[in-house]
Amino acid sequence: MKIYKVAIIGLGPSGLAVNKIIYGDSFNEIIAFENEDINSRENYFGFWLTDWMKPYENIIEKKWYEWTIGDKKNNITHFSKNKPYCVISFKKWKDYCLETKNKLKIKKEKVIQYFPIQNYFKIITADKKEYFAEKIYDSRSTKEKKGELIQHFFGINITAADNTFNDNKLTLMHFTEEKNLLHFIYILPFSHNKALVESTVFSKDVLKTSWYREKIYEYLKLKNITGFRESGTEKGVIPMFFADEKNSTNPNIFNIGIRGGACKPSTGYAFSFLIKQIQSLKNSNKNYVNIHKFLERKMDKIFINFLKNNNENGKSFIKLAANLNGNEFQSFMMGQSNFFTKLKIIKSMPKLPFLKELFR
Ligand SMILES: Cc1cc2nc3c(=O)[nH]c(=O)nc-3n(C[C@H](O)[C@H](O)[C@H](O)COP(=O)(O)OP(=O)(O)OC[C@H]3O[C@@H](n4cnc5c(N)ncnc54)[C@H](O)[C@@H]3O)c2cc1C
Repeated sequence: MKIYKVAIIGLGPSGLAVNKIIYGDSFNEIIAFENEDINSRENYFGFWLTDWMKPYENIIEKKWYEWTIGDKKNNITHFSKNKPYCVISFKKWKDYCLETKNKLKIKKEKVIQYFPIQNYFKIITADKKEYFAEKIYDSRSTKEKKGELIQHFFGINITAADNTFNDNKLTLMHFTEEKNLLHFIYILPFSHNKALVESTVFSKDVLKTSWYREKIYEYLKLKNITGFRESGTEKGVIPMFFADEKNSTNPNIFNIGIRGGACKPSTGYAFSFLIKQIQSLKNSNKNYVNIHKFLERKMDKIFINFLKNNNENGKSFIKLAANLNGNEFQSFMMGQSNFFTKLKIIKSMPKLPFLKELFR
């Protein structure tokens, strides 16, 4: 009977990060289970360049020092000289994380359950096979929950005519007017003629792909971008609720990624936080780290309840962006804002609805 040092359940960004960051320099034997084809997964992860993300600078696809937040009438531009917005592709992250000294065995199988026996675990897969490992890193997570908000999106990679895009400036949020729905367009201009154009909604239910497509086409038409070629799509659902599983009482079970509480529910940003989580787990003797501070979580909760109970159309986001400079804004998005920025954020929010949510 072979007992692996570690079993990783799920080879999304967090499972991959465990392989690289915690065990990359070891010669341990590791087994990873993934029931999807990760070689066909294609998407970009955006984040602002915080200190803990600097070790990955050479796999960053592109950096933008300017970004905009707006709607039909308003457009706020932010700048940050030191903390640009960056993206890493899943493919680059995967290749980087799989280049290690350890011996990693990947099984394309679904894990059904695992439980401890003596000082190791028995892991059972859907095809009823059994595996054994001393530690478990589990990244399976619930992305949707009845009655809770989710961030759902669909994006198209397009190639348009020369000089269609200003590739120095990213469109972080361009809100459109929808009936009872918060919707915005997100554009990553990779070059003068190539961009990812994404339609994002904050609501309780996922929409048909044709809906997001329609919104993307409407937006492109409005910008006179008509002749373009599609070269790929990405879609997803990110929880806008606290999706973390209860911390395990077994010290050798580690909940990681979104399952371990990495997602910042008010924004859906999770990638750089899950990396911070794995870096922190490496340096900790506990099986859980609190990535989002108490006050940040509290503010997120109030903000999500506000979004759930009010028909927000983007105005609060634009007002917030207008009251903060680029560095303050990115510090808030990355959970690094100081006391004065927090005060500015609170001051930017609609007072009455927020007070209601505070005491709800
Ligand atoms: C398209 C997309 C774009 C995103 N963009 C951004 C972004 O720009 N910035 C940002 O910060 N965040 C972004 N996110 C949010 C977040 O970073 C991702 O959801 C990220 O993938 C979370 O990583 P994870 O490892 O926690 O979970 P996952 O990526 O969900 O990985 C879990 C893995 O476990 C596998 N699995 C599940 N159950 C089993 C089982 N029983 N047995 C074996 N394997 C199993 C799944 O197939 C999956 O591959 C995005 C999400 C998506 C989907």
